[in-house]
Amino acid sequence: MKPLSYITEKFTESVIREMTRICDAVGGFNLSQGFPDFEAPQEIKDAAVQAILNDCNQYPVTFGEPKLRKAIARKVAGYNKIKCNSETDITVTCGATEAMIATLKAVVNPGDEIIIFEPFYENYGPDVILSGAKPRYVTLYPPNWDYSCEELAAAFNNNTKAIIINTPNNPTGKVFSRKELEEIVSLCLKWDSLAITDEVYEHILYDGEEHISIASLDGMANRVVTISSISKTYSLTGWRIGWAIAHEKITSRIRKVHDFLTVGAPTPFQEAAAFALNMPESYYESLRLRYNLSRDYLFDLLSQVGFKPYLPKGAYYIMTQTEELMEKLSVHDDFAFSKKLIELTGVATVPGTSFYANSNKGAKQVRFCFCKKEETLENVKKGLRRLVKD
Ligand code: GLN
Repeated sequence: MKPLSYITEKFTESVIREMTRICDAVGGFNLSQGFPDFEAPQEIKDAAVQAILNDCNQYPVTFGEPKLRKAIARKVAGYNKIKCNSETDITVTCGATEAMIATLKAVVNPGDEIIIFEPFYENYGPDVILSGAKPRYVTLYPPNWDYSCEELAAAFNNNTKAIIINTPNNPTGKVFSRKELEEIVSLCLKWDSLAITDEVYEHILYDGEEHISIASLDGMANRVVTISSISKTYSLTGWRIGWAIAHEKITSRIRKVHDFLTVGAPTPFQEAAAFALNMPESYYESLRLRYNLSRDYLFDLLSQVGFKPYLPKGAYYIMTQTEELMEKLSVHDDFAFSKKLIELTGVATVPGTSFYANSNKGAKQVRFCFCKKEETLENVKKGLRRLVKD
């Protein structure tokens, strides 16, 4: 057989999603892949059922049903302070995942560089490789996951096509401040670069943090692709409804890629997503409250059983240092540690190296997610307590 694509030799399948399969095989508690195990809101599920019964079952408008695009435009005008035209500036995609890769495919030329903050959500690595760009990593330093202004400035050059910003951030829980985003804006303007933002955790914030969309800042209206989805905000990760918002010139390219990749995102779920985007303010408040309690619960638990967790300011993950526990359990890398943890406690995590290009950096870290029922977290507590009994 002739060699298969060289490009697909350069990355592995998702470790996050592999951990779910490993966890399911042993009937463990899945604190690896970030999806809720509680029920999605009844009224949104009803809207989807109704859409199917109303026979919204054929292909959608490829770049998104008008009703959903209008709902997105209305929502971002309020919450994100982004002005956009629903006719020309929005592409509805199969989740933020498709929005990101379709965007990169739409904007990248050979030789282009894409800046990524490290640690990063693992998709960005393969996304950049598949689009043919060269990644450049800028470190976020614990405990606050700050970057160095000098290192960021040094990462930009004439080849910088774009910087990817994920705020609130997966896996660190960092929420980029206005000052940081303004710094990024000035570098994008200086080097004529785009900002591609993944804002899927935009409603999951703690400790009075504020979500700021970089597209709302001065000078950025034409050079940002704002990506989000219904997955995390409405606990509907399996529906695969996301979107990319950008100036018409960029959107027309994204729409082409999207059309030939997937044709469209599922029609009945688009109907229900339009309904979801009109949920009352109280819905978002209770989502925040729920996750705030789960964050505090898991953070305290992890601290008690020997991890060194970093307190997240947003999203629903906790990154931890595992050095001391690794010594105690006589394991030497993050994969061995995650495996041992499932065996001993039934709790599945994501090995830290999955979030770094340089694997030395994550070898003593793992990520937990806490978007789970109280009952699940109580069982996790029983499991993790075994670490201190030995
Ligand atoms: N964002 C989720 C995580 O980091 C996973 C998303 C996915 O698997 N598509 O766990």
